[in-house]
Amino acid sequence: MLHAQEAETVRYPALVLNADYQPLSYYPLSLWSWQQAIKAVFLDRVRVLSEYEQVVHSPSFEMRLPSVVALKEYIAPPKRAAFTRFNLFLRDEFTCQYCGGHEELTFDHVIPRSRGGRTTWENVVAACSACNLKKGNRLPGEAHMHPRRRPHEPSPFELREKGRRFPPNFLHESWMDYLYWDAELEP
Ligand SMILES: [Zn+2]
Repeated sequence: MLHAQEAETVRYPALVLNADYQPLSYYPLSLWSWQQAIKAVFLDRVRVLSEYEQVVHSPSFEMRLPSVVALKEYIAPPKRAAFTRFNLFLRDEFTCQYCGGHEELTFDHVIPRSRGGRTTWENVVAACSACNLKKGNRLPGEAHMHPRRRPHEPSPFELREKGRRFPPNFLHESWMDYLYWDAELEP
């Protein structure tokens, strides 16, 4: 049984990188609890790249909590983006595709289901509830409401790049080199 010196160890998440030192996921950012990170260290599944000051100890050993770990075995990214609510919002950058608003986001079938529209990447967009209500069961042409961007199936790469624009509230300083590595190259 491991014990941390402070109770608030929930505050010591480890950033998880793939074997190529890129985050497994930007958004949500791939993080493990310190317990998961230490378990992975003992199973020899990760390299520890950076550590917190915080120490955990058992009767037989003591170690600093990892703040950045990299998997030893590369996990291939998915070939296609999963069609999920989250990914759809991310594709549309959490923006209503009709008015550009960000409040009370819902989903709109561009061609309404009642008119034969299907629930696919090509026919569903993020829409605020006001626009959704306004458009109702009409076609875009009837409602004079057209999505700002033609809905499409995003590539995993596209979602990844969009996810990078939404940094979480908490970012430990040791993570920066791995999250915004391209920014480091600015003169
Ligand atoms: Zn709207």
